[in-house]
Amino acid sequence: MDKIYIDNLEIFAHHGVYEEEQRLGQKFVVSLVLYTDTRKAGLTDDLKQTINYGEIARQVTKLVQAKNHQLLECVAEEIARMLLRVHPLLKQVTVKLSKPWAPVGLPLETVGVEITRGWHEAYLSLGSNLGDKAAFLNGAVTLLQAQDDIVVEKRSDWIITEPYGVTNQPVFLNGCIKIRTLLTPEELLNVTQAIESQAGRERLVHWGPRTLDIDILFYENEIIGTERLVVPHPEIEKRIFVLQPMAQIAPWLRHPISRKTISQLLAELVKTDEKGRL
Ligand code: ATP
Ligand code: MG
Ligand code: MG
Repeated sequence: MDKIYIDNLEIFAHHGVYEEEQRLGQKFVVSLVLYTDTRKAGLTDDLKQTINYGEIARQVTKLVQAKNHQLLECVAEEIARMLLRVHPLLKQVTVKLSKPWAPVGLPLETVGVEITRGWHEAYLSLGSNLGDKAAFLNGAVTLLQAQDDIVVEKRSDWIITEPYGVTNQPVFLNGCIKIRTLLTPEELLNVTQAIESQAGRERLVHWGPRTLDIDILFYENEIIGTERLVVPHPEIEKRIFVLQPMAQIAPWLRHPISRKTISQLLAELVKTDEKGRL
C-alpha cells in the first residue's frame, strides 16, 4: 500500500507515570506512517482525493494535549484510533511516539513505543429461531453499527432455514453481514456475545433454540484456533444457511484454508445434499 509520512512532530504535553511529568510536562515526538491509496490523488492533483497531512498534524497535536495519560502505549492507541475513525481514506497507521526527555536518570537518546493499527474486514453470521426473529436480527445489526469501532458495510437478505443439528425446533431466520472493524478477533467476539446476551440468549442446549446467535465466519484471512475462538468458523462448508446469504454478499470471497470461493462451496454443498436425498 502507498504511504504518507509525518516525521518527528514535536508536541509539549503532560503524560507520564511520575507526578512531575504530569505537572511540568515535557516534549513528545510523534512520527506517523499513513497507509492509503494515493493513486487517485496522484492522477488528479486534487487534495480532496488524499489525506491532508497538515490537518492530521494539527489533530494529533490537539489530541495529545487534550488529556493526561500515564503511558505512551495509551497515547499511541488513542492517536491511531482517532485517525482511523476520522479519515475514511486511511486504511492503516503506524504511530511512533517517543519521549526524549524521559526522567530515567541515565544517558539515553530517547524512549518510545511504535504500534500499527488498521481496519479489518470480517463476516458474521446471524441466526434466530425464537420470538420476533427479524427484530432480533435487525436489532443485532443496529447494535453492531452503533459500536464506535465497527462499520456494517453489507447485509444479506434474512432467509428462512430448517434447523441444523437439533432438528425438532422452530425454523430459523438467518443472514450474513460484512463489517469492518478496529477490534481484534477476541474483542469482536466480546462484542457479539454481549449483544447475544442483550437479546436474552441462553445457552441451554448446544445448537438448540436461541433468540440470537452471532458467529464470526471470517476475519481477514486469519486462521485462529484458541479455546474461545475458531476462525474461519469450522462449520461453514456444511451450512446452507451460511453459504446462501454469504453468496449474496461475497460470492468471490475465498476460504483461507481450502482456497475455494463461497460460490464453489455452495455449489458443492447443494450437490452433496441432492446426492444424499437420492
Ligand atoms: P456453532 O458455533 O456450531 O454455530 P453455536 O453458535 O450454537 O454453535 P454458541 O453457543 O453460540 O455455539 O457458542 C459456543 C462457543 O463457541 C462460544 O462461547 C465461543 O467462545 C465459541 N466460538 C468459537 N469460535 C467461534 C466463532 N468463530 N464465532 C463465535 N463463537 C465462537
Ligand atoms: Mg452458531
Ligand atoms: Mg454462536
